[in-house]
Amino acid sequence: MTAPTVVRLRLDLRVRDNPALRAAVDADGPVVPVWIDDDAQWGAWPPGGASRWWLHRSLARLDESLRDRGSRLIVRRGDVATELAAVAAATGAESIVWNRLYEPATVERDKALKAALTERGFAVRTFADRLLHEPWDVLKADGTPYRVFTPLWRAYQRVGVETELAAAPRAIAAPEAWPDSVAIDDLGFDPTIDWAARFPDRWTPGESGASRALSHAIGEGVVERYDDERDQPDRYGTSRLSPHLHFGEISARNVWHDVTRAVTNGDLAEDAATPFLRQLVWREFAHSLLYHEPQTESEPLRPEFEAFPWRDDDAGLAAWQRGKTGYPIVDAGMRELWATGWMHNRVRMVVASFLVKDLLVPWQRGAAWFWDTLVDADLANNTMGWQWTAGCGADAAPFFRIYNPVRQGERFDASGAYVRRWVPELADVPDKWIHEPWSAPSDVLAAAGVRLGHDYPEPIVDHALARDVALASYKRLGDGAD
Ligand SMILES: Cc1cc2nc3c(=O)[nH]c(=O)nc-3n(C[C@H](O)[C@H](O)[C@H](O)COP(=O)(O)OP(=O)(O)OC[C@H]3O[C@@H](n4cnc5c(N)ncnc54)[C@H](O)[C@@H]3O)c2cc1C
Repeated sequence: MTAPTVVRLRLDLRVRDNPALRAAVDADGPVVPVWIDDDAQWGAWPPGGASRWWLHRSLARLDESLRDRGSRLIVRRGDVATELAAVAAATGAESIVWNRLYEPATVERDKALKAALTERGFAVRTFADRLLHEPWDVLKADGTPYRVFTPLWRAYQRVGVETELAAAPRAIAAPEAWPDSVAIDDLGFDPTIDWAARFPDRWTPGESGASRALSHAIGEGVVERYDDERDQPDRYGTSRLSPHLHFGEISARNVWHDVTRAVTNGDLAEDAATPFLRQLVWREFAHSLLYHEPQTESEPLRPEFEAFPWRDDDAGLAAWQRGKTGYPIVDAGMRELWATGWMHNRVRMVVASFLVKDLLVPWQRGAAWFWDTLVDADLANNTMGWQWTAGCGADAAPFFRIYNPVRQGERFDASGAYVRRWVPELADVPDKWIHEPWSAPSDVLAAAGVRLGHDYPEPIVDHALARDVALASYKRLGDGAD
């Protein structure tokens, strides 16, 4: 009889189209699915609070799904190499498999882990899974990675995407005896405060929640209307697949496959599908950048930004985090984040710009807050998003393009519906003033029941002045922004 295979699961919490799990099942012996709680494996970026909330539920769903197939999830706590070897020893496994990740700390550690386990006599195999193409697969003609998005996108269109999906195994053979496992509920992953109480209104972590989100995006017209509605934060205008993709509850291949199949079947116009598929390639771009420029998880890609005169404005940072800056679109975004663990992409750009350019707080501090509070916190996407907004990343918005929070609100939340939802104290402010209540005549504010500085803050900075200061600081970097 074939010896068992240990499958190390990380950000691939699903049974469908999971190459490592499929390889273990195809080996025809028992399979031991393992998830290891070891913060060290993530380097400086162990899962934040919102990610842990998600993980708790996603692991439970995965365990149920494995149990439906005669298997179960073994959860261990401790050093990855020690735990994998212990699980293998307890079950007589000779092979260990996992899907590859590309974050700097995981790449280094996985190399060392593979060497150590091989040395101990295990057959170790790893698989491509997380992206449509691995970061070293699609390169420029000179063999270097893309630093600009559009040529990468064109290259993806040229090369195409393999979308054959491996079906979920119907049955997964169990080892003779299961090794010890920590109970998922004992991982202590739920926040101790009731911060995440409303997350379940929006999210269903786990593989079936991911499938439903994709079916909704395709079947209910989200992808069809994507180009028109993706920038309107009050709509369900984007797929909301990001946490599911981050935790690997659905593969990017699967998303690409279902969207392109809808086009082939005539259920979706190609013109509508393309802008959506393009976003998936932004995700690839982010992963490629971080893989090839590993220092960017904490340092600006453009080194001259090291000398930027950032300010450690703790009071400003705290007002931003709490959604109390006095700029309604910024506050709405930050409150959406706190209440749901997610924020609309357009608003992410606005709040990030505000922190970095109006308050001059270093982008790393904003990235750290997002890391802790986003259910989709993803090192590659988050790093790129912040560096892009701060103007110090690849193919980034130039520093001198500073979002005006009032104009952004008027443009993308014209009716104020998004602000009214998340900043209810402004609910009765007329549309005309909803994005700049400080400019409203006092009788209008009185009629809306708002006393500025009391019910809702005065702006913590004057945007026009802050913009001048930011531009002057940027000019001193000698970058020639004018
Ligand atoms: C400052 C900042 C921080 C960000 N941090 C994260 C993060 O931690 N995790 C994260 O997944 N995304 C991050 N993003 C990117 C983007 O905001 C989210 O991916 C998107 O809002 C998720 O919503 P959705 O699933 O409905 O996206 P859709 O618009 O439906 O897009 C589909 C998928 O494409 C990918 N995608 C879309 N836009 C981007 C993008 N700009 N960059 C990379 N991938 C993208 C995501 O995986 C997304 O789920 C950040 C953006 C900014 C500006």
